[in-house]
Amino acid sequence: MACSLGLGEKFTDRALLEQLALVAKDAAALHGVIMRTKEDPNSSEVVSYAPFTLFPSPIPKSIFEQARLVQKDFNLLVDKVSRDSTFLEQALASTIIVDNFTARLFQIYRHVLQEGTSSPINLGLNRSDYMLHCGENGMTSLKQIEINTIAASFGGLASRMPALHRHVLNVAGIHDVHVMDNTSVVVLARGIGKAWSIYGSDRAVVMFLVEETQINIFDHRLLEHELWNQNVPVIRRKFEDVTEKGCLDGEKRLFLDGHEIAVVYYRYGYMPQHYTEKNWEARLMMERSRAVKCPDIASHLAGTKKVQQELSKPGILERFFPDNPDAVSRIRSTFAGLYSLDQGDEGDRALAMALRDPDMFVLKPQREGGGNNIYGEKICHVLNEVKDSPERSAYILMDKITPLPVSNCIVRRGSPLKPQTCLSELGMFGVYVRQGTEMVLNECAGHLLRTKSSEFADGGVAAGVAALDNPYLI
Ligand code: ADP
Ligand code: MG
Repeated sequence: MACSLGLGEKFTDRALLEQLALVAKDAAALHGVIMRTKEDPNSSEVVSYAPFTLFPSPIPKSIFEQARLVQKDFNLLVDKVSRDSTFLEQALASTIIVDNFTARLFQIYRHVLQEGTSSPINLGLNRSDYMLHCGENGMTSLKQIEINTIAASFGGLASRMPALHRHVLNVAGIHDVHVMDNTSVVVLARGIGKAWSIYGSDRAVVMFLVEETQINIFDHRLLEHELWNQNVPVIRRKFEDVTEKGCLDGEKRLFLDGHEIAVVYYRYGYMPQHYTEKNWEARLMMERSRAVKCPDIASHLAGTKKVQQELSKPGILERFFPDNPDAVSRIRSTFAGLYSLDQGDEGDRALAMALRDPDMFVLKPQREGGGNNIYGEKICHVLNEVKDSPERSAYILMDKITPLPVSNCIVRRGSPLKPQTCLSELGMFGVYVRQGTEMVLNECAGHLLRTKSSEFADGGVAAGVAALDNPYLI
């Protein structure tokens, strides 16, 4: 396959590619496209580059614009879903019977709902991920993989990628490829800063809730620095710190180590493994508090795969946008086929369809973080095991999206450099702030392109599969 940049013979010139990779690794260090190492994940004494593609990858301009445009609609949708308790109850009713993690989140949700929310401020930082599906007619269309409403990462490093590729292309003598700026980190920080300022206490801080192992810390740091530049103070703490030292005062203000917390920004807490019983208690305390939660428990649930599937049912988007048919059609046009596997006729039909032709689908449990989805023959194994039990409701079924492969080289520490067939996934960051009933900020906050070898069905950058990339618009 030819390289889509029109490099022609240059792309098969291994010596040139090796030389460009050396230049690129130094550029990654210079521009901050870096990570800590697996060997020493909590130290910055020795760091390495984050995996990246040697060249940017082509994305049709019209499709990129479509993803940018629909992002504000998705922001509104997540917010509306998070405020509709009847919908959330119905959508997740079958799932919480069989999926313990979603059930635990739901318990907290119900608790907060009954007690009454303490914060009139909502802050959402999400990322809607897409692949460009190539249909039988050869037409490419934007199809959503999922929307991440908690700990959507790489807004920091993605903003450093344009400088890296611009330099590589310059050195390669390719001057006509335009790599656009990526403002993700600035706009995401603007959202957090806005929520912090509405909270209204100069002494209060933003708390990044982080994990023990901090390989991807520079992605966080870029956002932190942007906040400090806006005079918004940031601290980083773990669940254990909240358990040991956190408390609420009589007005449910959250305090920790003498700091009043204005915003809790979760970069952790999206997988069952992230929770001990104590951590669940800490999550509940934060959710009950006056602090702005990013996301709050309802918006976290709004990002589950079951909710994504329920939103694709006829009439549901109209329920959320009764006066805005344009938003409905913009959103709906990005949906791939999504199917409930709940017991009953509809679920039975989906199940039979998947068993007949498993390669056309992806089977998804209610999990985040990559590597959980089920493909091919394994779909039949799993479905045959659960088909006569309510356990099937732990999964949803989705049409498999098949993007056009392109050639690129992935530069990854410890892996040989070789041109390979790759698939890209485009993410759009969204940010919104609501104060009471009024949306005071709603923006598309830049993009993330991740590219992986077509050998892998699943897995992100952190999982060691995908690499950071830039779109070049064609
Ligand atoms: P996670 O929450 O674990 O990130 P995703 O739904 O994003 O779950 O899926 C993980 C990966 O699986 C995606 O990055 C993509 O590579 C692949 N994938 C997910 N859904 C589909 C689909 N419908 N068609 C093709 N690939 C998919
Ligand atoms: Mg994903």
